[in-house]
Amino acid sequence: MDNLSFEIIIIGAGSAGASAAMTCRNRGKTVAVVANPVDTTALYKAEWVTNYPGFEGIGGKELGEKMFDNIIASGAELIRGRALSVMPFGDSFGVAVGNDYYQCKALIVAAGITREKLYPGEAEFLGRGVSYCATCDGMLYRGKTVALIGNSREAEEDVAFLRSIGCNVLEFTGNGRYEIKGGMKADTLIFRGEEHKVDGIFIIKDTVSVTQLVPGLEYKDGGIVTNRDMSTAVPGVFAAGDCTGKPFQLGKAVGEGNIAALSACAYVDGLTR
Ligand SMILES: Cc1cc2nc3c(=O)[nH]c(=O)nc-3n(C[C@H](O)[C@H](O)[C@H](O)COP(=O)(O)OP(=O)(O)OC[C@H]3O[C@@H](n4cnc5c(N)ncnc54)[C@H](O)[C@@H]3O)c2cc1C
Repeated sequence: MDNLSFEIIIIGAGSAGASAAMTCRNRGKTVAVVANPVDTTALYKAEWVTNYPGFEGIGGKELGEKMFDNIIASGAELIRGRALSVMPFGDSFGVAVGNDYYQCKALIVAAGITREKLYPGEAEFLGRGVSYCATCDGMLYRGKTVALIGNSREAEEDVAFLRSIGCNVLEFTGNGRYEIKGGMKADTLIFRGEEHKVDGIFIIKDTVSVTQLVPGLEYKDGGIVTNRDMSTAVPGVFAAGDCTGKPFQLGKAVGEGNIAALSACAYVDGLTR
């Protein structure tokens, strides 16, 4: 396999993703973990955890960092960045991260939950004037006016990049209600009651809602529907942790990560088709 192909790709480097990565590596699989920074994980935000076996109590930041280090020590490839989309290709999957594409035979979604709601029009116009990736789609808007919504360092870098290739960029960093409108394509961004005519809209958030990430998954009560082996409605895709729904607890995330990993390994070995 080349350095863009893996047997298993895991999206998310929280506790579910770390647990899954360690087990997949123990089973000898080639593994990549698409990882947002550790401070985006739920565990990192927990002040003090008192219900995780092995510790009388431990800070979430410390435990989260240990788990992140576990991923690296396991020998899994760490792909730093946001998975933007997943595309099925026959019996494998393509995962877009920035402007790179990675391939895998099985996928484990361990992306946690995003509390950010989609903006009105975001899902409707995704791929039709709305993009999550300036590097991937910026060239389409050369010489045109685009809006970029986001207040992270990545958003700042994307503004600079879009300007460098000749886009007229309207920056939006404020909190509030954004709404996207258009016809065949998005052409208007409404923010704080003001309409802005644009050719394209880039939305740069830390996470991509799992409902947008993987086509074909089923959802119930806000979580990805899984079987007991953490398989989903899409053959070859497994899910673990907060993204499968309540309870939002560390022990559940780690346990599901382990089961998803074992099931993904069996799938890759052709034992569960
Ligand atoms: C404040 C707080 C206190 C808590 N206290 C406790 C406690 O005391 N005991 C307990 O049992 N549980 C506690 N929890 C819950 C527990 O931390 C979580 O249930 C568990 O850690 C969830 O792990 P996860 O891996 O499923 O998700 P997360 O930790 O959310 O990890 C998901 C990761 O995936 C990343 N991601 C998402 N989308 C993408 C993408 N497209 N590409 C790349 N990366 C992506 C996210 O940015 C994140 O880094 C607490 C949670 C919080 C918020």
